[in-house]
Amino acid sequence: MGDIIDGKALAERIFTDVKLEVAKLATAPRLVAVAVGDDKASAAYTKRQAKLAQSCGILYRLDNLPSEAPESALRAHLETLNRDPGVSAVILQTPLPRSFDLVRCRDAIALGKDVEGVTTLAAGRLAMQKAVIAPCTAEAALHCLRAAIPDLRGLEVAVVGRSDIVGKPLALLLIHESATVTVCHRQTRDLAEVLRRADAIIAAAGSAGLVRAEMVKAGAVVVDVGTNAVTAPDGSTKLVGDVDFEAVKERARAITPVPGGVGQVTVAMLMRNAVRLARAAAETCT
Ligand code: NAD
Repeated sequence: MGDIIDGKALAERIFTDVKLEVAKLATAPRLVAVAVGDDKASAAYTKRQAKLAQSCGILYRLDNLPSEAPESALRAHLETLNRDPGVSAVILQTPLPRSFDLVRCRDAIALGKDVEGVTTLAAGRLAMQKAVIAPCTAEAALHCLRAAIPDLRGLEVAVVGRSDIVGKPLALLLIHESATVTVCHRQTRDLAEVLRRADAIIAAAGSAGLVRAEMVKAGAVVVDVGTNAVTAPDGSTKLVGDVDFEAVKERARAITPVPGGVGQVTVAMLMRNAVRLARAAAETCT
């Protein structure tokens, strides 16, 4: 059986570093989350952000706009936050109302306050290896992989998923680590064939049970980003990843569980990014 990569333990170490970094800053970072409407999952996430920010010494606030607010009001609010010297980092919660243009809304966040690295400018900086921070989930998946394989040079990595905030930035981060990367998606002709070649698989598709044991090379490292709520026959729901964990853990050298894997590290990366932005802003002021 492979090692279980413990996301909680990895996150704890990041939180310890974040607290030390916050203590070195002249002013505590202030992270502002902006949400529109009352999505339950988003509310649970902001509650968790608030608790963890507080434990790290980061000031935190949620600005919740009403569900009937137009896109222009959201963008105007983000621009107000950009101009506020007391705000060092901004996270835009999703989902947004369906009529909103997500990219246009994200691009209303100033590059220096874009704590998730979701703006077009941040994506460009990441591609050119000039970014201060990268999208939190991509960073978290990379961190989990490096916990099992510290040196990724020459490694064959298959990433399943090509979204703007997970798969694509992750592929860039891996390339910058000198890994050889194959990005798979819904149109990939033979997913199993690509995955079987890989020394490491990072699954970020949002499809429960997609990665099965026979698709995994013996001794590969498997990082599961997927979070899927599935309903059991008794009506209860539970959270599972994209990987058939029980079967794959018998073949893999190391694997992340869901829950308790990448998700734990993602929120720690959010705090780390908030500190990095605050430090970068302080450095440009001196
Ligand atoms: P998305 O829906 O934007 O993108 C999914 C990608 O997976 C697409 O590129 C699609 O082509 C690909 N895909 C879907 N089904 C596939 C299949 N059968 N075969 C091959 N490729 C397939 O999703 P996202 O926002 O990138 O999120 C992906 C998953 O990661 C979701 O389960 C999401 O909940 C989870 N997630 C987890 C965290 C965390 O912190 N753990 C954070 C963000 C997202």
